[in-house]
Amino acid sequence: MNIDLSNRTAVVTGASSGIGKATAIRLAKAGANVFTGDVQLRDETTAEFQSLGIHQQVCDVTNLDQLKSLINGAAKATGRLDILVNNAGIIMVKQIDDVSEEDWDRCIDTNVKAVFFGTKFAIPHMRKVGGGSIVNTASNAGILPRAHDPVYSISKQSVVGITRSLALCHSKDRIRVNCVCPGPVGETEIMEEGLREFADREAAVRKFIYASPLARALDRMISPDEIAQSILYLVSDAAEMVTGTSVTIDGGKSLGVPPEA
Ligand code: NAD
Repeated sequence: MNIDLSNRTAVVTGASSGIGKATAIRLAKAGANVFTGDVQLRDETTAEFQSLGIHQQVCDVTNLDQLKSLINGAAKATGRLDILVNNAGIIMVKQIDDVSEEDWDRCIDTNVKAVFFGTKFAIPHMRKVGGGSIVNTASNAGILPRAHDPVYSISKQSVVGITRSLALCHSKDRIRVNCVCPGPVGETEIMEEGLREFADREAAVRKFIYASPLARALDRMISPDEIAQSILYLVSDAAEMVTGTSVTIDGGKSLGVPPEA
């Protein structure tokens, strides 16, 4: 599909690595003016972004002043805002007995509050240009909660909920709100953090691949760019009638338990 985002302005959060980085690159290559924010800038990403004209700034999405400044700054610099990808997120693998109030606040503030308020800050700019498209990065844990990370699962179910509710509220403004629900994605810091928990890294990679029937059949993990391509479609005019939906890209992981190989 040939997607042209020329003259559109896009903001992507959590873009220094993984899915956010791949998304910023996809959107820029499709012609959008891309503005990114991340709590931490990485040299290799900065170099790649500079070559594509992608703007980068430090932005902690849990700090609403910084989040607002990222979104307002992009709109001010280009005179418009068309696309917002609320992607920044953190994992939390803890059972309820070990979850402190601080843990809860950190996960919910990053994964949920920032998605809601990012959307709130973007809407007035999108109304001014007659509409827009917002994509939130949820997780397949937002569709099928998991036993090992209840707070993360709760946060991503909330992202699916925000997506559906705000899609309903803002269709009248021609603002579409969708989300992607990835399964285990390789080449991301979140996955690396998960893999560090295991003594045998290779065995852990096999475990993640084995959990998704299609990943197992293809013998590889999902790549960040495969998620970015779905986001590209959702923000494009090709998806003009698509809103409130969750696109699951998990190699079939949330379908059920696959048959033994
Ligand atoms: P990643 O860790 O490579 O990227 C996440 C980025 O978000 C990082 O660059 C990090 O610095 C940034 N970030 C974290 N907290 C932030 C904050 N407070 N403010 C601004 N930036 C912040 O991992 P990823 O997999 O690319 O994660 C992107 C999104 O995908 C997350 O929302 C995550 O929950 C979701 N997701 C990931 C997977 C996976 O397997 N990797 C699966 C499902 C969903």
